[in-house]
Amino acid sequence: MKQIAHWVGGASTPATSGRTSPVYNPATGAQTATVELASAADLDAAVETALSAFPEWRATPLSRRAEILFRFRDLVDSHRDDIASLITAEHGKVHSDALGEVARGLENVEFSCGVPNLLKGGFSEQASTGVDVYSILQPLGVVAGITPFNFPAMVPMWMFSNAIACGNCFILKPSEKDPSPSLLFAELWQRAGLPAGVFSVVQGDREAVDRILEHPDISAVSFVGSTPIARHVYETATRHGKRVQALGGAKNHMVVLPDADVEMAADAAVSAGYGSAGERCMAVSAVVAVGDVADRLVAAIAKRIPSVTIGPGDDPASQMGPLVTREHRDRVASYLEDAALGGAEIVVDGRRQTFEGDGFFLGASLVDSVRPGSRVYDDEIFGPVLAVLRVATYEDAVRLVNDNPYGNGVAIFTRDGGAARRFQFEVQAGMVGVNVPIPVPVAYYSFGGWKSSLFGDTHMYGPEGIHFYTRSKVVTSRWPDPSTSTIDLGFPQNR
Ligand code: NAD
Repeated sequence: MKQIAHWVGGASTPATSGRTSPVYNPATGAQTATVELASAADLDAAVETALSAFPEWRATPLSRRAEILFRFRDLVDSHRDDIASLITAEHGKVHSDALGEVARGLENVEFSCGVPNLLKGGFSEQASTGVDVYSILQPLGVVAGITPFNFPAMVPMWMFSNAIACGNCFILKPSEKDPSPSLLFAELWQRAGLPAGVFSVVQGDREAVDRILEHPDISAVSFVGSTPIARHVYETATRHGKRVQALGGAKNHMVVLPDADVEMAADAAVSAGYGSAGERCMAVSAVVAVGDVADRLVAAIAKRIPSVTIGPGDDPASQMGPLVTREHRDRVASYLEDAALGGAEIVVDGRRQTFEGDGFFLGASLVDSVRPGSRVYDDEIFGPVLAVLRVATYEDAVRLVNDNPYGNGVAIFTRDGGAARRFQFEVQAGMVGVNVPIPVPVAYYSFGGWKSSLFGDTHMYGPEGIHFYTRSKVVTSRWPDPSTSTIDLGFPQNR
């Protein structure tokens, strides 16, 4: 059985805890590896190594840092397929989707290649006579990232490229469900010329996370995962004096107005609802049908579901893969039981679709006439279950979205620019799509939700990522006019 270890000090490092966790191939249901789970002492050792690497890394010239980042960028680019294969093997998503994940992560590495420009400060000449004031951006020190199972390559790239570019040493604690891409990244960083200790991987579970949150030498924590853990991370790490950005779960709505192009909206609902088996933080899980569009829209979505090909992620014919674990698949299926539905109607029941073998597969489901207060609406299901809510007016739709405790992504489908503009003004969510179902911002903006989808005030990556991983220092300096100097500086006035 393959043993997955940590990466500390530029080398694969075994754990000392003796605790492990199984890693599965979700398409077959078979265990393929065992991942070591760090003890608090393992985490401490990684922090020690990172701390000793920090002084040299923060002093490394920007041009040299950029050179390493460009080389890392090229290595990730030429290993897209290898990274995607590791994702598919442990997460289950189809290979084309995994390649998309790598591409969206790579954008962030490309953004951070511009680090000499990104770390420019401000300068005010002659703030007072002979006085200049300027600001400089300096790294924080050792920072940590804790990432979820659903994007084992992209979310780490959201964090580590900017953190390292800014001069920090970064410790990644990936999800124990799909730990392998993190180790390939470690090797690629090393090949790119990153000094040992600047990037480390500590595999683990709650024990490693809790040590990160309280470790006195970790200055900042970036977290992406479910809302209860995001809240725990935010509250605990801030109590220990750390800078924290903790992105949580989601319930993303797609509002469809009566004038929308129904065929386009149905295509978007199917790809955004069932892509990656609904295991995306930006997946659409609630379609809000306004007025008389509902019947046409439900019929158009239902018509498309049978042609979604479900199968192993490494089969090029598959469009949707399995769920990540057996327990998660069973939990998602439980939302199709009567008690969870609160009187809603199942139009397509994914439980009816049968699959050969022991993979964690579940068919795509469509549930109509869902209401707030039912579990199928109130919970983040994180699986291929699309709920349709019928409302009479645009105002009802906005009220519904704004009353939801989550505020990650939201989309509106309409042909009316004025309606779309009013929606972006009124809706309470961090990322808004206009005829775009999954509005993940490009790397030169920043990613983050509102309400229970984000704890902290800084969004991830892009300009806010640079802000998060640096602290500013303002220097006020006075240099008297050389003409008043008593020393001969070569000015005629001094003679
Ligand atoms: P999760 O919260 O279970 O795990 C996330 C990380 O926290 C993992 O590294 C895990 O090891 C660790 N963890 C789990 N339980 C813990 C505990 N009790 N104490 C300390 N650490 C713990 O999330 P997941 O199931 O891996 O990922 C899916 C969730 O992540 C969904 O809720 C999804 O919406 C969310 N997500 C959000 C975003 C976003 O940008 N807002 C992006 C991706 C995923």
